[in-house]
Amino acid sequence: MKIEIQGLNKIYPNGNQALKDVNLEFGTGMFGLLGPNGAGKSSLMRIMVTLMKPTSGVVLVDGKDIQKHRKEIRGMLGYLPQDFRFFSSLRTWEFLDYSGSLAGLKNKKERFAEVDRLLDQVGLLEVRDRQANKLSGGMKRRLGIAQALIGNPRIIIVDEPTTGLDPDERIRFRNILSELSQHDVTIILSTHIVGDISSTCQGMALLNKGELVFTGSPESLVKQAEGHVFKLNLSPRDYETVKERYDVISTIPVESGWEVQIVADNIPEFESTEIIPNIEDAYVYYMEHKMHADLIE
Ligand code: ADP
Repeated sequence: MKIEIQGLNKIYPNGNQALKDVNLEFGTGMFGLLGPNGAGKSSLMRIMVTLMKPTSGVVLVDGKDIQKHRKEIRGMLGYLPQDFRFFSSLRTWEFLDYSGSLAGLKNKKERFAEVDRLLDQVGLLEVRDRQANKLSGGMKRRLGIAQALIGNPRIIIVDEPTTGLDPDERIRFRNILSELSQHDVTIILSTHIVGDISSTCQGMALLNKGELVFTGSPESLVKQAEGHVFKLNLSPRDYETVKERYDVISTIPVESGWEVQIVADNIPEFESTEIIPNIEDAYVYYMEHKMHADLIE
């Protein structure tokens, strides 16, 4: 499976440009699309699931323009939208059964078996008879992924799936996605939460104000930040100066003042130790520093 996004632009009728000449290519496995709110992620997802047309540009799935093969593409897709909602009165299994009918699973016996298999996969088998709208937030989101998975889609698109979830549920959700990515499917995970992007993602992209500012592996993003993350022990006075001059990413109170971690273009003029960046540090470095540097070059 190969997905190619070529010269994609989206300008809304009110003049908002949500996507600016986006070019991207990826294959089977998990692909993470990361960016702050308003970056254009949902616009890109809605175009990819053929709910919205781009102003210009194309998305090709194995060489086929999705706008020209909408029915076929929709049959290959599973989608968990950002604002996923239920029909209130349905029980958990009934909701999934209904989604299965919509996905074209006609044989009742096979559909029932598939519903229970998926409920088990997302850890909801025990609450299969509970009304869907009485599930917890995390359970609702897991039911959302189950409905995206019914009918064995080859492309799974999840838009901000962990927003509002507690850490346990977030980890659980991430594990479900990584297990899925071991199969022969393409998963597109859109998120503004850096922690959602893990080494499970073979590829990732950073989107900012409608433009792609980075594409590559999570490891290569982290590599970009090497030599730019430092730990400093500061007196309260120096702490104020550092706060003004640098991007402080963490602060811990210690006896002598503060232990802080910063992201900086060059070695800071305070005594410091270079530390190995993680993906969160790399994100801050890329969004706050690298991009500006690239613009100046
Ligand atoms: P994200 O999912 O990354 O938060 P969106 O794709 O929702 O980003 O939004 C990207 C930009 O497009 C934002 O500036 C947003 O205000 C604008 N936008 C989104 N939907 C619409 C719409 N229906 N009409 C006009 N502007 C929109």
